[in-house]
Amino acid sequence: MKKIQNYINGELVAPKSGQYLDNYNPAEGKVYSLIPDSDKEDVEVAVKAARAAFEGWSTMPAQKRSDILNKIADLIDKNHDRLAEAESIDNGKPLKLAQRVDIPRASSNMRFYATAILHFASESHNMDGEAVNYTTRTPMGVAGCISPWNLPLYLFTWKIAPALAAGNTVVAKPSEITPMTAYLFSELCIEAGLPKGVLNIVHGLGAKAGQSIIEHPDVPVISFTGGTATGKNIAATAAPMFKKLSLELGGKNPNIIFEDCDFDQALNTSIHSSFANQGQICLCGSRIFVQESIYEKFLNAFVEKVKALTVGDPLEDGTKVGAVVSEPHMQKIMSYIKLAQEEGGKVVAGGNRKKLEGRCADGYFLEPTIITGLNHQCRTNQEEIFGPVVTIMPFKEEQEVLDYANSTAYGLSATIWTENLKRAHRVAHQLKSGIIWVNCWLVRDLRTPFGGMKQSGVGREGGWEALRFFTEAKNICIKL
Ligand code: NDP
Repeated sequence: MKKIQNYINGELVAPKSGQYLDNYNPAEGKVYSLIPDSDKEDVEVAVKAARAAFEGWSTMPAQKRSDILNKIADLIDKNHDRLAEAESIDNGKPLKLAQRVDIPRASSNMRFYATAILHFASESHNMDGEAVNYTTRTPMGVAGCISPWNLPLYLFTWKIAPALAAGNTVVAKPSEITPMTAYLFSELCIEAGLPKGVLNIVHGLGAKAGQSIIEHPDVPVISFTGGTATGKNIAATAAPMFKKLSLELGGKNPNIIFEDCDFDQALNTSIHSSFANQGQICLCGSRIFVQESIYEKFLNAFVEKVKALTVGDPLEDGTKVGAVVSEPHMQKIMSYIKLAQEEGGKVVAGGNRKKLEGRCADGYFLEPTIITGLNHQCRTNQEEIFGPVVTIMPFKEEQEVLDYANSTAYGLSATIWTENLKRAHRVAHQLKSGIIWVNCWLVRDLRTPFGGMKQSGVGREGGWEALRFFTEAKNICIKL
């Protein structure tokens, strides 16, 4: 059975303890590889290597760092098919999705920051002949980067790329549930000639390996993406140590459909925004609000299309909905479907585990599920389910839907469907979410700030925000 290794000081190494964890293929419900059960000692060696590499990497001309990061991007492109297949097997997502979204976006993360660092600039302020200020931005040292399982290589590279481009060295931990593409990525870093110790990847459990990174005194800056409860723990550890912290957390995103929308576009995109990656995207629109006059028409058309989605083997061409990531996660999603019914909801599509034949007979498949008849305040509509489950509710007026949409503790993203320009702006401005899509979903421009409001996070990723995050500003004031 394949044994994944840590990537420390430029080499692929076993965990110090010699202990490994099982890695499951969720489509088969079977262990298919082993991953290091790393602990404090492995993190210690990784941080030491990253510290030693910092001097050389941070003083290397930006163009040279850029060339190496671009080379890694080239290698991701060259290995596109292999990486996409690994990601599909590790995570359960349809291969097509990994091919179309995850892997190309991972490569563009590397390329974007490889070139952004060549244009990154800091400010200067002239005080009317009295003094001039200029600001320098320097890398901070060893950055800790921790990423979740839903978009494994995509989110892993989104942190690592700006951290490295800005001149930091990195100790990173991918989710132990989906470690394979991060492991293959470490092989590509070796092939690209990334100097040893610049990036270190420590595999293992969050509470052990992850926590050791967070609490390490020589890791002054931490970028974390994951659940809100984990984010809270991380903040509690990092805050008294005065670490710089970026938290990208959960969401319970509204998808608002007004009667004046382009109906077909709203309908078709809502299928993706509800069920892409089995609903396991932090940006999925899990609460759909439809204006009363088109509610019945939308609901009927939506149910019909959702029932026609093929739930199947992720590696097969026609599959639209793959396996959810793990057995415990499947149980959690099913418990929410039960809760929704207890709260008075009606399951109008799906609601059950889906049993497949052949190789996927023991896989973690769920039918895409639609629930109606709930109010916006119930737990089903307030808590993140993070699976192929959406609720649909009617609304009459703009203010009413704004109240519904803004009623959760989360504020990550929102989608609005309307052909009325004034309404689009008006509603977008009043939604308490970090990202608003109007008549589209998941469109990404890497130059824009990305992140959530309220309990969906603190700080912003993307564009120069990320380069600013991974650098420390210093102002120098010169009297003229
Ligand atoms: P978790 O919070 O469970 O885990 C995220 C990462 O943190 C994993 O690598 C995990 O390791 C690690 N971790 C867990 N505990 C600790 C700890 N005490 N110290 C350090 N690291 C720790 O999230 P999931 O992996 O379940 O991901 C799903 C969540 O991520 C959802 O809530 C989703 O909304 C959110 N998300 C947010 C995004 C955003 O941009 N805002 C984007 C994508 C997802 P391990 O896996 O070993 O537990």
